[in-house]
Amino acid sequence: MKRALFIAALNILLLCSCKNSTEKVVEMASETANDMHKTTAPDSINIIPINHATMILAHKDVVIYVDPVGGTEAFAEQEKPNYILITDIHGDHFDVKTLQAMTLDSTILVVPKAVKVKLPELKVKNLVVMKNGDTKKFEDYAIEAIPMYNLRPEALKFHEKGRGNGYVLTLGGQRIYISGDTEDIPEMRQLKNIDIAFVCMNLPYTMTVESAASAVLDFKPNKVYPYHFRGTEGMSDVNQFKSLVKKENSDIEVVQLEWYK
Ligand code: ZN
Repeated sequence: MKRALFIAALNILLLCSCKNSTEKVVEMASETANDMHKTTAPDSINIIPINHATMILAHKDVVIYVDPVGGTEAFAEQEKPNYILITDIHGDHFDVKTLQAMTLDSTILVVPKAVKVKLPELKVKNLVVMKNGDTKKFEDYAIEAIPMYNLRPEALKFHEKGRGNGYVLTLGGQRIYISGDTEDIPEMRQLKNIDIAFVCMNLPYTMTVESAASAVLDFKPNKVYPYHFRGTEGMSDVNQFKSLVKKENSDIEVVQLEWYK
């Protein structure tokens, strides 16, 4: 009898320890899944199109203005920028009056050298000059300056290689490419692991929708946002760009935002 009781007690003990270890395994599995989720699912980036090439990117407390031009009215309701990135010297990317009208004493301004030489005295937290190929780590994100230039002989005069910067940002675990004004240059086609791409397509200054689609199919971003698509002869056909991309690679998401209100 005693033996039977002992065996019954042992079975209960074994059952309990099995149950506990099963629970532990389940707990561990869900912890691992959570960790994987943390590292593989990137945080969302808030994208606010202002106009043409001008936008705001925000992630948690980091607010980045890209090519703010056209006065401060469009930014009045927005968070103040921690960073401003400027790609090039032209008026649709760089406007001294807009910068002067902003309070920038806690803003880091990132510019190519060609912009720096045109900057008046501005009270900024820091002025960072980057050239093509430079990388820089800030407190809360990283940035790489990418070349941007024309290829077609008739367009070479618009953007000479080395003057302006496209940028790749690593923000909130995502790699974000901002093309600036460029054609389908090899440096764009060779980009790797881009989650979000802003790609210009207007004539005569940048490139055709066919060239833009061809480059995007090469570097395969997860999402591509056509921007900077108003040219001298009107808007480029962004729907055609979308169908050219989707026909060859339906995994690339083409996101059309309202850039021209
Ligand atoms: Zn432009």
